Amino acid sequence: MSLLGPVEVRALAEKLGIRPTKKLGQNFVIDGGTVRRIVRVAEVTPDDVAIEIGPGLGSLTLALLPEVAQVVAVEIDPALATQLPLTVAQMDPEHADRLTVVHADALKVGADDLPVLPTALVANLPYNVSVPVLLHLLEILPSLRRGLVMVQAEVADRLAAAPGSRIYGVPSLKAAWYADVRRAGPVGRNVFWPAPNVDSGLVSLVRREPPETSATRREVFAAVDAAFAQRRKTLRAALSSWAGTAAAAEEALVRAGVAPSARGEQLGIADFARIAENRPRR
Ligand code: SAM
Repeated sequence: MSLLGPVEVRALAEKLGIRPTKKLGQNFVIDGGTVRRIVRVAEVTPDDVAIEIGPGLGSLTLALLPEVAQVVAVEIDPALATQLPLTVAQMDPEHADRLTVVHADALKVGADDLPVLPTALVANLPYNVSVPVLLHLLEILPSLRRGLVMVQAEVADRLAAAPGSRIYGVPSLKAAWYADVRRAGPVGRNVFWPAPNVDSGLVSLVRREPPETSATRREVFAAVDAAFAQRRKTLRAALSSWAGTAAAAEEALVRAGVAPSARGEQLGIADFARIAENRPRR
């Protein structure tokens, strides 16, 4: 398998006149061992259709193509989106027909913009938008069964945090609506060009059914957002404008079997589903 190393990454960037921007979180992987590891930990199979967000110069794409049926790569940068099929045709002609590049913003992409419904998300996500991109894809693509993403280490910790931990919060709860989430290993800074000033981490997601509830996902997420907008307050206080009054918040909490004096960081997503379901209707 031919992969991109530091020499190839720099040569490609120079050819395209690309100066990696922070705005688009452009840190390209220059280490073959890292992309092989990502593909291995992703546990993709030859039946999988992988969606890769932000393929960049193709470091991870080249490692992914031999292992899956298809790769749909969504890239916002037009120069990178145009170059990727050319790079793959040159470096891995045998698997080039497995690749489709979609030039789009992953935050806005819809299922209809994709040529086929993906089963696995495998990506080194743009760090500035990693959580919203992840949640957007889990929402619009129920076909996604699993995911392995590289994100900033701190974000990896937040996504995989359990109730009661200091870093547990909105990303942990919203991701838990869709999937079992766990950390899948650390990644250092030197595997990138340019090297970012933060460490990275791998996160594994395995889709599961959301908690059973008569509330909609939006209603549950609204309760989560309200609870964490004032995370130091008791839920009775934090949820008062969400419920209408503090008394109404207390009623919803008691009916949901949650102590009104509890704080959001102690609860799991199923608790928030029950709270949302018991919000007094006016
Ligand atoms: N996957 C490549 C690698 O491992 O070398 C590049 C990863 S780099 C961290 C993030 C990539 O996401 C860049 O190619 C950047 O242009 C792209 N990107 C940034 N924002 C995006 C968005 N909203 N939608 C799609 N791609 C985006």
